[in-house]
Amino acid sequence: MPLTVAIVGSGPAGFYTADALLSSSADVEIDIIERLPTPFGLIRAGVAPDHQTTKNVARKFEKSAIADKSRYYGNIALGRDVTLDELRGMYDAVVLAVGAASDVKLTIPGADLDGVYGSSAFVGWYNAHPDFRWLDPDLDTDQAVVIGLGNVAIDIARILVRTRTGMASSDLAYHAGEAIWQSPLREVHMVGRRGPLDAKFTNVELRELADLTTCAPVVDPAQLPDALPEGVDGREARLMQRNLDTLRDYANAEDCGTKEKRLHIRFYANPVEILGDGHVEAIRLEKTEVIDGRVKGTGEFFEIPTRLVVAATGYRSIPIEGAPFDDQRGIIPNDDGKVEDGLYVVGWIKRGPSGVISSSRPDAKSATAHILSDLGDGGKPGRRTLGPLLKERGARVVTYADWKRIEAAEDAAAENGAPRRKYATVEEMLEVLGE
Ligand code: NAP
Repeated sequence: MPLTVAIVGSGPAGFYTADALLSSSADVEIDIIERLPTPFGLIRAGVAPDHQTTKNVARKFEKSAIADKSRYYGNIALGRDVTLDELRGMYDAVVLAVGAASDVKLTIPGADLDGVYGSSAFVGWYNAHPDFRWLDPDLDTDQAVVIGLGNVAIDIARILVRTRTGMASSDLAYHAGEAIWQSPLREVHMVGRRGPLDAKFTNVELRELADLTTCAPVVDPAQLPDALPEGVDGREARLMQRNLDTLRDYANAEDCGTKEKRLHIRFYANPVEILGDGHVEAIRLEKTEVIDGRVKGTGEFFEIPTRLVVAATGYRSIPIEGAPFDDQRGIIPNDDGKVEDGLYVVGWIKRGPSGVISSSRPDAKSATAHILSDLGDGGKPGRRTLGPLLKERGARVVTYADWKRIEAAEDAAAENGAPRRKYATVEEMLEVLGE
């Protein structure tokens, strides 16, 4: 009997795990179970729509999806169509690769006002994730505020200011493009509570802002240190220096006036309250200083009028019924990917939301090593039981061949140099399949 493995989640962590299992010499049978009809998780719905080359890795994942030993079960949700306990009863190993679908929430007063969004919702909206198709953010504002100094904050700020022409070769959701390009938005403020050397964004992403044709990145030179602090060396120093050099270029730029939009990168500004009556009207921030790594308020406040606030303050995994959860860290507690015999985790649910796409590859290797050493020859029936169970429950399994039909329809609908026009609802996707 083959070793039967169910991988829940078809993002990078899930597919790297399928790759690793398929590359092993073990006799395995792999079923990739995905809540949406569409595969690839973050590659489709997280990576910025204007970063198409990052998405190329999906082609490699496809080889695992169509391998003889694997099968794709799209449109099958854990907890809705099948429970974790049931999967564990049917499969020798279950690997949870479900990522971090929620946000680190803002807890300041006013965070629940209309017009305030977490990054998972906002990024999902512009990336045509079906959960956020109807977000309909109010972009009738000339200023927007993005909270956070990470790569997601940079992505959001950039997407908000790029022009239709600039996004022509992207797969930005159609509904999002129409809303963004009609907006009077002129100023985006990316605000962070720490200083330039503590920012989480990476230099490639920061430098990319210089290429925006109608928007100038603006940095206050007074916020930049003259030199790196003592004691920082090696790789950390090189990365900090690169960011500092880029920020200095922005601070010294002379062509700012020729571009009609501004992207302000503001350090030492901690959001303390979002103001408004039902809908956000302004955000109040306190100027800060960072002492021994700790953020301290200075007692000096300022406000930015806006109708749009996006908190790009980090992602967070959602607990799964039947699995333990460390609420503090927002992960399933594990020992290098092993939760217990038969249950494994990879990617952001294992180690929190950090790193780039390929950072999940080592997770896949560890989980595979555990599975192969823990489980021997297997013996559970896997898809022989899952298939009939899903049928009995009336679940509509979207196979990989079905997905290819959806993909072909998206490719065919693309206009003006875009790689595809994404469907943004499950209904539209199933309609392509004649349902
Ligand atoms: P992140 O890198 O952890 O950045 C989160 C930002 O939010 C930090 O600046 C953090 O500030 C701030 N923050 C957190 N809680 C806050 C609060 N309560 N109030 C104010 N600010 C708060 O997270 P991310 O940007 O969501 O990115 C997630 C991962 O995806 C990262 O590893 C990122 O590099 C990766 N990613 C990569 C790319 C790419 O390679 N192009 C693109 C997108 C995402 P503090 O430092 O003060 O906590």
